[in-house]
Amino acid sequence: MSRDTSRNRSRRARTEARAESFRCLHCGLDVPMAAPGTDHRNHCPTCLWSRHLDDTPGDRAADCGARMEPLAISVRGDGEWVLVHRCTHCGVLHANRTAGDDNALPLTRLAVRPLARPPFPLERLGAL
Ligand SMILES: [Zn+2]
Ligand SMILES: [Zn+2]
Repeated sequence: MSRDTSRNRSRRARTEARAESFRCLHCGLDVPMAAPGTDHRNHCPTCLWSRHLDDTPGDRAADCGARMEPLAISVRGDGEWVLVHRCTHCGVLHANRTAGDDNALPLTRLAVRPLARPPFPLERLGAL
């Protein structure tokens, strides 16, 4: 697994009022806020869990604060992968863009999960 380890200290001065990192509530990783490919990191790049802090992305308006489980992958028209999170406390669903350093293994696990547990025998597809 390759990971972008480039340091981004120049952001410190500009983002003094905002936290530089957060601790993942699920796996305990200290996650830097700066993420490749997105302006707003909202989930852990290792386990993909999130936290219910926003009503709309980045507003920090939600009072809930509970952990959000990564449920599924959706794909936008331009091919971008979107993570669907569900809050473990209030059940709200959020769609969050994946980041460039998200771990490919759990992302792929989520993406193929429906095929691993089909609601009908996959052999049936051969008869169509
Ligand atoms: Zn984590
Ligand atoms: Zn919630």
